[in-house]
Amino acid sequence: MRIVLLGAPGSGKGTQAQLLQARHGVPQVSSGDLLRDAVARGTELGKKAKAVMEAGQLVSDDIVLGLIRDRLSRPDAANGFILDGFPRNIDQANSLDALLREIGQPLDAVLLLDVRHATLMQRLAGRRICPKCGSVYNVSTMPAGVTVCPKDGAEVYQRPDDKEDVIAKRLEVYAQQTRPLIKHYTRLGLLRTVAGEGELDAVAERMEAAALSKPIPAGKISVGRKPSAVAKQAKRKAKKPVAKAKAARPPARKAAAKVASKRRKVVKAAKKSAKKAKTARGKTSRKPVARKKK
Ligand SMILES: [Zn+2]
Repeated sequence: MRIVLLGAPGSGKGTQAQLLQARHGVPQVSSGDLLRDAVARGTELGKKAKAVMEAGQLVSDDIVLGLIRDRLSRPDAANGFILDGFPRNIDQANSLDALLREIGQPLDAVLLLDVRHATLMQRLAGRRICPKCGSVYNVSTMPAGVTVCPKDGAEVYQRPDDKEDVIAKRLEVYAQQTRPLIKHYTRLGLLRTVAGEGELDAVAERMEAAALSKPIPAGKISVGRKPSAVAKQAKRKAKKPVAKAKAARPPARKAAAKVASKRRKVVKAAKKSAKKAKTARGKTSRKPVARKKK
């Protein structure tokens, strides 16, 4: 199982990664952890990374890719890995594709844990930390009026990172970074969108199913309201079960014409709104993906 995990802050990505890791015995590989670990152990790449960070600069993709390469060559990654936090942009995705090709470990799937913006806000803004034991709570699950840790009675607090305006910014950055990746992996037929709301177990089950599902041939899928040219062509060639079912209803011809004209209108409207969304401060890239399912 070789997968990349995508999900907004607050999507539950970390928890789901741990569940997948436990179930399949493949390591969760986080670029942040790799960096910290390499620096702490003083490896060659770690020393390089440390120097860059101390100069106040961002660690280059080459260094991170080097760390990933090293990590994936360890025995525990023989059966796969769950990549978390990398790639974050198209350049990194392309470099990663090349690296995985080179070491003969291509991705099986890219899982996108899809959670509504409002839910993410609620989850993140409600987060409270115990300063004493480090436990994490959420105001939505704490008894009303209680503001202390049940374990040690310490007053819980909100991290500055979890204030609403900061969260909104973080989510915006995530959406901007992730949108091109969604397109990229959709084109490659690797993207699986997993509904990330609901019970933990149910989400885990959906993750499992998505991770094990067969790859969809590129060109057979379209994400959002604006299918790529390739996907459009494939769609035209492929049978259209929806249109067929509708057209089969009597009176066939009239209904079919109606459906077709309605479809054209919807597509037109979708294109328009997609354009609009592009110019407006688009909230997230998750919207179009979610729409596909309904
Ligand atoms: Zn505590």
